[in-house]
Amino acid sequence: MATDQFQSPDYFLVDDLLTDEQKLIRETVRSYVKKEISPIIEDFAQRAEFPEQIVPQLGELGCFGPTIPAEYGGGGLDYISYGLMMQELERGDSGVRSTASVQGSLVMFPIHAYGSEEQKQKYLPKLASGEWLGCFGLTEPDHGSNPAGMITNIKDAGDDVVLNGAKLWISNAPFAQVAVVWAKDEAGDVRGLIVERGMEGFTTPTTHGKWSLRASATGELVFDNVRVPKENILPGVKGLKGPLSCLTKARYGIAWGALGAAMDCYDTALRYSTEREQFGKPIGAFQLQQKKLAEMITEITKGQLLNWRLGVLMNEGRATPQQVSMAKRNSCEVATNIARQARQMLGGMGITGEYSIMRHMMNLESVITYEGTHDIHLLITGMDVTGINAFG
Ligand code: FAD
Repeated sequence: MATDQFQSPDYFLVDDLLTDEQKLIRETVRSYVKKEISPIIEDFAQRAEFPEQIVPQLGELGCFGPTIPAEYGGGGLDYISYGLMMQELERGDSGVRSTASVQGSLVMFPIHAYGSEEQKQKYLPKLASGEWLGCFGLTEPDHGSNPAGMITNIKDAGDDVVLNGAKLWISNAPFAQVAVVWAKDEAGDVRGLIVERGMEGFTTPTTHGKWSLRASATGELVFDNVRVPKENILPGVKGLKGPLSCLTKARYGIAWGALGAAMDCYDTALRYSTEREQFGKPIGAFQLQQKKLAEMITEITKGQLLNWRLGVLMNEGRATPQQVSMAKRNSCEVATNIARQARQMLGGMGITGEYSIMRHMMNLESVITYEGTHDIHLLITGMDVTGINAFG
């Protein structure tokens, strides 16, 4: 792959809205991506392999649980810093950002928010450092957009519960040491459990054949009469609000991340438009190509401002899940459109691994689907503004 020449677009001087600390954090992650991710990621994606070495690296960089308090190994940072980290990671590859999102927002967040003190002490420092990798099991083969229908269940067995069922499409599953799993108890309440690799009856078969997020490992979680100690149940939450609150945190990271992928596609297309000549001129001299670039930078700028404002509201504790849905949906739409336009601007070169655009474009097809599909986020906004539920 060619050298990573990324230059971040900032058309409306949004940098002025960031603190020096936030800019430093962004720069640190950007440098890491240029040095450690860009040189290897295309090769891993082509081979559909997970670059395991990034797990301790991301831990050391502070990308796992950046908003978790430092006493548990987290970064104790604000939400804009967290967003900028996700933006930079996904600028490199959506799979790398997915690994960090799952670990921080879907595994560490519920343990910190709903776990016992013993659970926090036992799991959070190891997850923060990247010594352990975690995964989050909500989606089932027959229940994706409607997790309330889940059939994975636990039954009382003295000091343990017995867990049965299966989860599908689980990021990090094949490499994870721990899984935060959502299952219904005998009263029909959704409970969160920490399931550890090695528990008898627990397996994590890999999902093969993906054309998207190829450098992120995806798998199933299969539970065949797994005895899980009751001390592994998250005591602080019952019901779907548990997993949904985790998804709000992760979707917030995706809003920033997907825009990072868009920024990379735009930057690549802009540079290419000045270098590639046809009909005796750089292709950037043609109005049709300028139109594409002008629309890309306009959408990126709008997205940057939306994300920044959402970050402020998150820091103030005033952001609603519905606002997070809007930002996730917006960034995914902007990014998928920009990736498609940018790919066309590179002509035939755009379909090769020589450039990052096609990989982003395929990755974004997962990003627009997971953590609530594009349709579902639109319905969430629709319900919020009308007060009418159009889900079912
Ligand atoms: P379905 O729910 O079957 O939806 C199919 C289509 O129907 C979609 O277009 C949807 O928008 C539409 N639809 C559904 N309901 C409605 C409705 N009421 N009104 C209108 N349209 C509707 N899950 C996890 O738990 N953990 C993970 O780590 C994880 N990682 C993932 C990684 C990848 C690469 C992928 C692809 C998925 C991952 N997922 C994970 C699962 C993901 O969250 C689900 O794929 C997603 O929620 C959609 O569920 P589904 O695939 O079953 O689609």
